[in-house]
Amino acid sequence: MKTVSAAAAKRRWRRCSGRCHVARQFAWCVVAVLLVSCNPVSAQSSKTQYQFELNDSHFHLTNYIQQGTAIHEFLKIMGNKVGRVALFGIPLQQQWSYRVDGDRAPTYYLNTDAPLYYYSFTDASIAMAYKSLTKEEKTRFDPMITGFNPTDMYAVDHIRRVLQTFPGVFSGIGEFSIHKEFVSAKIAGEVASLQDPALDRILDFAAEVGLVVLIHNDMDVPFAKEGSQPAYLEEMKALFRRHPNTTIIWAHTGMGRIVRPVKNHAANIAEILGDPEFSHVYFDISWDEVAKYIVATPEATRITADLINRYPDRFLFGTDEVAPTNQEQYLKIYGLYGPLWKLLTRNASETVRKGNYERLFDTARTKVRAWERSNLSAPQ
Ligand SMILES: [Zn+2]
Repeated sequence: MKTVSAAAAKRRWRRCSGRCHVARQFAWCVVAVLLVSCNPVSAQSSKTQYQFELNDSHFHLTNYIQQGTAIHEFLKIMGNKVGRVALFGIPLQQQWSYRVDGDRAPTYYLNTDAPLYYYSFTDASIAMAYKSLTKEEKTRFDPMITGFNPTDMYAVDHIRRVLQTFPGVFSGIGEFSIHKEFVSAKIAGEVASLQDPALDRILDFAAEVGLVVLIHNDMDVPFAKEGSQPAYLEEMKALFRRHPNTTIIWAHTGMGRIVRPVKNHAANIAEILGDPEFSHVYFDISWDEVAKYIVATPEATRITADLINRYPDRFLFGTDEVAPTNQEQYLKIYGLYGPLWKLLTRNASETVRKGNYERLFDTARTKVRAWERSNLSAPQ
């Protein structure tokens, strides 16, 4: 496996920023003038674009036992590298069953056979963390609602209740999971399904409010037979077709830790990207488990880079880091992707690292705030 150290990646970015500085400065001046004159949210964006190296479309402030990094600490970890972050906890709580594990308290879903359960308080916790920030600091976060059970027809009521209780906070829903290796089968209650009307209700409501949807769904089952059709690809496409007005980000391009990219993974993604029916569908390349496949061989990196260069507006960088304690740990995946960044055009690199995040989440912020103003009773 070929990897590039964070330091090498940083050096590379510094070299690039030197070369492109003047051109970029001019370009951003023009963009800034245009944006300031029309939209204050976007004015913030141009500032972010200019100042920072990347935005993170996929970040968990807390872990599977709802512990994590204090948000003020995390701001320091973001430092002057990361401009904006889509912020969420984890909707699932790992139970500590004394009968099963005794004194060995599990902190991760792979540590035990005890089940996971939906932990709705995560949303209140994330909202309160966000509300503890200054106005300026808040502009760097896009909190997401995750604490709902996607098999429950009442899930939408939870999402609405969170918006009602914490108006002015959330921009999207997710990351939530439907089919996820090791996890789905461990969740107490019914197994989630892409064909569940409860999920349709959630995606309809997201479209109505303008919430960005970040969904984790493995494209295939673990250890799938070589050459077989990916188990969940067609169901996923059908879901996209049923929700043309919902902005959907497919986390990890459908890959998992052991749900490896099938031979035609890039071709399957390309088919979605090339189909106007799926113009509302985006992909994130988060998770070091995904990066490991993409940088595993020069050929895998090249195939991915070609795809991103062809459709730069449809991919977002994210870390999928969980409760990091320092910047090196937080940005490990950014360094891992060194070989990929090198093969992207300058425009594709900028867009994947920053531009797409800003476009999607700025739109969501504006729409969700407008929906809140006209649909919710007076905020407390
Ligand atoms: Zn994640």
